[in-house]
Amino acid sequence: MSSFEPTAISRSRPPDLVSGYRLEKLVGAGGMGEVHKATQLSLGRTVAVKLLNPELAKDPSFIARFQKEAAALATLSHPHVVSIVDKGKTDTTYYLVMEFVDGPSLRELMRSPSMETPVLLRRMLEICRAIEYAHGRGVIHRDLKPENILLDQQAGGIAKVSDFGLASFLDDATAASRFALTSTHVSMGTISYMAPEQRVDAKSADARADIFSLGVILYETFTGEVPLGTFDPPSRKRGGLDPRVDAIVMRCLKPDPDDRYPSVTALIADLEPLVPGSLLSMPPLRLTRWQRAKHAMRRAARVTAQTAAGVTVLAAVGVLGVAYHRSGQVHTQEPLPGKVIMDTRLQDTPRNGPGRVEDVTPDKRRVTMGDGPDLPQMLVAGRTLSFENKALVFPPVEEDGASRVGRARVDVVGLVGGVARLTARVRAEAPPTTWKRRLKEVLNGPPPEPVASLGLMGREGRYVTIVHHGAGAPLSVEWSLGERSGAMLGLVAPESEARLELFVTEDGVMQAYVGQGKDQRPIAEPLNLGRDWQAQFAEAPAPAVGCIEGTCSIDGLTYTVDRPAPVTESPASPVVVIPQAPVRTVAANTVPAKAVVQKKPAPPPPPKRPPAKAAPVKTAPKRR
Ligand code: ADP
Ligand code: MG
Repeated sequence: MSSFEPTAISRSRPPDLVSGYRLEKLVGAGGMGEVHKATQLSLGRTVAVKLLNPELAKDPSFIARFQKEAAALATLSHPHVVSIVDKGKTDTTYYLVMEFVDGPSLRELMRSPSMETPVLLRRMLEICRAIEYAHGRGVIHRDLKPENILLDQQAGGIAKVSDFGLASFLDDATAASRFALTSTHVSMGTISYMAPEQRVDAKSADARADIFSLGVILYETFTGEVPLGTFDPPSRKRGGLDPRVDAIVMRCLKPDPDDRYPSVTALIADLEPLVPGSLLSMPPLRLTRWQRAKHAMRRAARVTAQTAAGVTVLAAVGVLGVAYHRSGQVHTQEPLPGKVIMDTRLQDTPRNGPGRVEDVTPDKRRVTMGDGPDLPQMLVAGRTLSFENKALVFPPVEEDGASRVGRARVDVVGLVGGVARLTARVRAEAPPTTWKRRLKEVLNGPPPEPVASLGLMGREGRYVTIVHHGAGAPLSVEWSLGERSGAMLGLVAPESEARLELFVTEDGVMQAYVGQGKDQRPIAEPLNLGRDWQAQFAEAPAPAVGCIEGTCSIDGLTYTVDRPAPVTESPASPVVVIPQAPVRTVAANTVPAKAVVQKKPAPPPPPKRPPAKAAPVKTAPKRR
């Protein structure tokens, strides 16, 4: 395990914070809090202590989730599942004690090009065994991804599944009341690994959602890529891989859960013969007849409940733009909208528009688009852009064959600094119905839903953006910052216009909000970019808006940057700490930094947001 030194973002805790344990070193930080390497004093052994973030601990739903993680781990005792030692609460902090896994995560293992296919197959089989066992004990993981699989070096590099923080119990009706979980926890998890049905409604996802995630992990393990859009079978991308793996992966990735393997046991039956030396592995788990009958009854009850919700779920899938094609080629989800909008292949054309570039104070610089005496330059790509009533508008696409995607970036220079705020009112609407459109709809089916975006764009395809789905699907946040990229689906789903904001603190913590004033709510978790955060974009980023399909209008686009306060402590290195990503992975993959030059003398510290904002507390973010 590589070392991770506490930074401005993750401060070290007093070693005796949890009685009976001595905290030694911070080894990871995710959405729920921190994980420390520690010594269990009574036995003198090394353990891992996970601390619930004190801000989150103010919200009962996070406490419930933390308790649920402990309960899931306590239910499971398996060589490929991280084992739990203890749980408890000090005056201020909830904690969970686990066996310490002394190794990298599967994410890091994947990065090592020398990793041999048979070894990877073996690791995958171990993970499948762990999940088969968990399902047999009534636990669905719901957040399977390479970051949550740790490799135990001391035990010969075997895989251990961890982070059951989003787990649900098959018998969730009782679990929900036992842990006081509300029904509002929709679509938690990491989008790339999440089954389509789980994206729409976490509650409708059963064990087969884990099978989908296993398919994504299998695909990524062998190809280094997440299967998005149209993708090649894994054996075509990795020489020497048994082509039978292709069919296994594809069956896991079927959009319809009914088309996937019915159980992990069935998946293992196909995978195991391909794993050299797998005779050493454990015998598959067999359920007793009584367990099987119980599961069948629960499933029947769930299916009845789901049928009622089916119509809404299908509509929501359409809204999310998750389209599936069944042809000879392999498809899953379309690429994420932010990625489509920020595509570097879209040709930029310079264009000036009404706006204002001003120094509000000597330390605060602001650019406003849509209204004003200046004519700031924009770089427009794809669709046409017009300026109407102080708003930036992407008018509906009329001609066949014209680009459905539009993007406009304000070509500002000198917006370099610490605290930044980007705001606008964003609207995305379906175009008015014309006879031509209606005819097309009859021939080709309903058109894709319109999408608008507001974000920051740097060089080399680096960006962070809020995606607003016009037809009332949840807002999402997407980012691509060199090696780190991802997306988070929020809980708020505004119908038409939404006032969006991206706010970056002096410490480089970026949070997306919807709404204004006291109605403002965080959309998802904060992203920690580190103090020198602009360097993550390869150059000082500029505000960028985008549109796919329909009509998009962006009103009151304002980007303000304050120069940072004087750096008294030694500044932290620019580390992208993305929620759920193990810090040790991230630290090892620090994005090359381009120094951001501070030209001005040190100003007084810029106004800071109340701390409650940086860590969403009132509204539960969709993922920890
Ligand atoms: P979160 O729910 O916040 O994602 P995780 O349980 O995934 O939290 O832990 C965050 C990170 O801490 C992991 O990615 C890993 O690097 C480290 N970690 C977690 N559990 C252990 C453990 N048992 N032993 C060693 N490191 C761990
Ligand atoms: Mg995790």
